[in-house]
Amino acid sequence: MKWMELTSDDLGEACNQAQGVAMIPVGSLERHGPHLPLGCDAIIIDHVAEQIAAQEPIVVMPTIPYTFVAQCRYHPGAVHIQSDVLLEHLTCICDEIHRNGFSKIIMLHGHGGNVPMSQSILYHVLETGREYAVYSIPPFAGKMDEITPLLETEHYGHAGEMETSVALAVMPELIRLERTADKYWGPSGKSELDPKAVQTPVTWIAEWGEMVCGGPDQATIAKGRAILDLWIEGAVEVIRKVKSDEVVPEFMRRPTNHFTADNE
Ligand SMILES: [Zn+2]
Repeated sequence: MKWMELTSDDLGEACNQAQGVAMIPVGSLERHGPHLPLGCDAIIIDHVAEQIAAQEPIVVMPTIPYTFVAQCRYHPGAVHIQSDVLLEHLTCICDEIHRNGFSKIIMLHGHGGNVPMSQSILYHVLETGREYAVYSIPPFAGKMDEITPLLETEHYGHAGEMETSVALAVMPELIRLERTADKYWGPSGKSELDPKAVQTPVTWIAEWGEMVCGGPDQATIAKGRAILDLWIEGAVEVIRKVKSDEVVPEFMRRPTNHFTADNE
């Protein structure tokens, strides 16, 4: 059930069928090496959301391509939204979904760089006393332990073997795999700062200057399909638990003002 395709008259029934759960797929526009399209994360997460909705009733919002890609602006094609603007924008969307009758909202992430920003939204919703529950599903929906054994390269992340495999399964016509033949993009080793001990605004880009991790030429459609299956399975499992979850809604409704008439 896509919000964009439902009629106004049918939204209420769709909300009931989805048990009050709506999902926002969140992507990005940024370089993915020399071989993947700028909208890679948005195209993939749009596909993942559609497959999830085919398995589990949920109302899917339009995919958001404009997000937090500050570290990606050293290359052409990134469209970055300033973090305070993005926080307000996504919170407004959540408020509007809630005003239309939904009590639980899931952000489904295709771009790992949005996950810290997503944490800010969760806390913002909490600190400002919103009464709806928000959940954030990171890329690969908790299935990395099962995905890693499918991969052959040491570094396989952004635009590498893993993401290129998924892209091959979703949008083969947009992939320029010949540009990666026999190439391996390792970590730059430029910085002596250990990211486990200290983070900086450019921790990631300093290490992965070309925005490719490892050897994308090891990617295959078969690996991509297997990764997608696990990702979708993981997300469906989460959504089923979100539907029955009473812990987060109870906290969101619980008063935080302790100075009530009873204990005054
Ligand atoms: Zn990506």
